[in-house]
Amino acid sequence: GPLDSRLPEEVLQNVFGFESFRGQQAEIIDHVLKGGDALVLMPTGGGKSLCYQVPALCRPGVGVVISPLIALMADQVQALNQYGVKAAALNSSLERDEAREVVQAMAQGELDLVYLSPERLSSQGFLDFLGTCPLALFAIDEAHCVSQWGHDFRPEYQKLNILSRMFPQVPRLALTATADEPTRLDMVQGLELMEPRLFISGFDRPNIQYSVKAKLNQRKQLADFLAGRSPRDSGIVYCISRDKVERTAEWLNQLGYKALPYHAGLDKEVRRANQDRFFKEEGIIITATIAFGMGIDKPDVRFVAHLDLPKSLEAYYQETGRAGRDGLPSEAWMVYGLEDVVKQKMFIENSNAAEKQKRIERQKLDALLGFCETVRCRRQVLLEYFGDTCEPCGNCDTCREPVESFDGTEAAQKALSC
Ligand code: ADP
Ligand code: MG
Ligand code: ZN
Repeated sequence: GPLDSRLPEEVLQNVFGFESFRGQQAEIIDHVLKGGDALVLMPTGGGKSLCYQVPALCRPGVGVVISPLIALMADQVQALNQYGVKAAALNSSLERDEAREVVQAMAQGELDLVYLSPERLSSQGFLDFLGTCPLALFAIDEAHCVSQWGHDFRPEYQKLNILSRMFPQVPRLALTATADEPTRLDMVQGLELMEPRLFISGFDRPNIQYSVKAKLNQRKQLADFLAGRSPRDSGIVYCISRDKVERTAEWLNQLGYKALPYHAGLDKEVRRANQDRFFKEEGIIITATIAFGMGIDKPDVRFVAHLDLPKSLEAYYQETGRAGRDGLPSEAWMVYGLEDVVKQKMFIENSNAAEKQKRIERQKLDALLGFCETVRCRRQVLLEYFGDTCEPCGNCDTCREPVESFDGTEAAQKALSC
């Protein structure tokens, strides 16, 4: 920003009003201030924004943030302006005059942060203009968009390697909540990060207890699970189809639970009413397809149950992550059976996706199955998938009820001896 050489702690406290850095924020900021590239993997809500906002305010020049969604940019800019940070967005939603003002402010070094859509950097004219501005850093938010491995692939992100070619001296941070190994590789290669330091943290949700059971009689299993909980608990039961969502809600109502369905086939008003009750009343169980979730941040969801397999560990992590936002003990409970696997495989094979995409989806499903069938600590397996780590947690089903490894030799000897 315009005022150079402020210390990160000062900026954090005086500009943002926060007391201390969280997790790896301080280390990341320190690394960027030394001029290094970084790949920052943190779950949603982990605090990625400060990792580039603070160093942009500490270093001379403007911090350039590349972000895929215009709506997100507007929110961020507004929040920053409220902190007194000089931030602006430059995207297709602006009138010509507004855009000109932003460009002028950049040229005169008046901005701390500017948010751009990636398309902007396809213009050689604009890149040349950037070359005349003092630059603090580049932040590439939602950096997984560079990868075809995810579902948010954006071709314009693949052109962002131009930044390393044109501005090799300006530090770059790539940030995302998606951290599996193939995406990580694509980000480093696609963005041509230079000897980036990898920061992975915050994926553990220690208050969530994970358990996965073989699907035998799913209704009885769910009923037993619910019977062990307080009727005041709010929860979500994910099902694979709209039809099953409705049937499950009806059945739960018959058992005396307050269950409400949610899927994209319901009227908007019904969906809103059900979601409202879930937020306001105690003890509501939402039965839902994956349509339920975007923007759900009810803090006291006590359990997330899966009657059917999600399609990947990312999806599982996201869906179960809606439990226990308040930090209190919560459960992620799932039953899975062979027929689920067959169903998911058929989805993949019957889709119109290109063969390369199908291969990716098969691998993701395999990783999920590995998680279901593991005899190791489930939390460890989940975190390792995201490149994060933890000690055996003592809280998941495999930790609490270790599976005896089957001794084949002894069994064989016994069988032979009688
Ligand atoms: P992400 O981009 O990783 O999803 P954000 O950067 O939007 O997360 O941060 C999520 C929330 O956490 C924001 O409300 C932010 O103000 C808050 N936050 C981040 N870092 C800190 C911190 N060090 N102290 C207090 N609040 C923080
Ligand atoms: Mg973010
Ligand atoms: Zn465990």
